[in-house]
Amino acid sequence: MTLAVRYTAARTLTTAPAETRSPGPGEVELAPAYVGICGTDLHIFHGDMDARVAAPAVLGHEMSGRVMRVGPGVDGWAPGDAVTVMPLRWDDTCPACLKGHQHICQNLDFIGIDSPGAMQQRWTVPASTLVRLPDALALDRAALVEPTAVAVHDVGRAAVREGEKVVVVGGGPVGVLIALVARAAGAEVRVVELSAHRRLLAEELGLTAWNPADDDVPALVREWTGEAGADVAFEVSGAAGGVDTAVEVLGVRGRLCLVAIHPRPREVNLHRFFWRELTLVGARLYDRSDFERAVALVADGTIPADRLISKVVPLTEAPAAFEALEGGGDVMKILVDCTADAYDTEGAAV
Ligand SMILES: [Zn+2]
Repeated sequence: MTLAVRYTAARTLTTAPAETRSPGPGEVELAPAYVGICGTDLHIFHGDMDARVAAPAVLGHEMSGRVMRVGPGVDGWAPGDAVTVMPLRWDDTCPACLKGHQHICQNLDFIGIDSPGAMQQRWTVPASTLVRLPDALALDRAALVEPTAVAVHDVGRAAVREGEKVVVVGGGPVGVLIALVARAAGAEVRVVELSAHRRLLAEELGLTAWNPADDDVPALVREWTGEAGADVAFEVSGAAGGVDTAVEVLGVRGRLCLVAIHPRPREVNLHRFFWRELTLVGARLYDRSDFERAVALVADGTIPADRLISKVVPLTEAPAAFEALEGGGDVMKILVDCTADAYDTEGAAV
């Protein structure tokens, strides 16, 4: 028997034994090693996504692990291979898919939200979702590939170019990853973040971070850009004030890339969009090329994944880790180590 963390009701997670099943045609059974806890997982934990998530649900979509068993008809993968999963399954028939945008399929199955996720000791997924990891990349760091792929996609959607000035509003894990990817693309970057802990971490990574509670961010941007305004702003905060800041800091023909999930409509200064000929770009998830680029950026250290990992907890302590994350600001990324109890459970061997 192996263990799984399940969401059973609002604010309730349990770690309990799970049945394993043989991988079917086209499927692969994985042994997840590390699984990151994401903001979306916290929304599920709060009960905010009960309309979408069918409890009991195994969460987790930021993962690394190894192939255990390969189902019929699967080529190119063997037990022991180090992998991460691009957790998307699409129908290939809807208008979005037919236009080539499978990652935002209109009937998308986001694995780990709409179907069982990685926070368990055995996880069966379609082989088509696997992304190979280099042997030299430590599996704990590799758990940061998925959020890094989000950042790669966002920076690509905003078409950030070398020498541009970029403001990232919201300095949590995704915001900092966007800042690092944009910097790697040759941009000059400023991060706007309320949490002192997160600002300090951003500064330690060589980024400049401003506190919107104390600093006059639009004035600082005017000074930084010689009154021109920023070329690109990323809205990663999910807050109304963050939207205002992102719009206000942009210069003529600036691009606002919307990354955060805003659950309800926001007031936006559309006059500013008109006056400065701004562009609004939505950015959601990633495609395979973003994922492969993310693997390279984490593997070569451009993304210092180890610095973003605040804590690693065993599977049995995942429920407590969710509680701790409720506090917000003083952590970046918490990983769940799915291997920690693997040898304490009877019959864990496949
Ligand atoms: Zn589709």
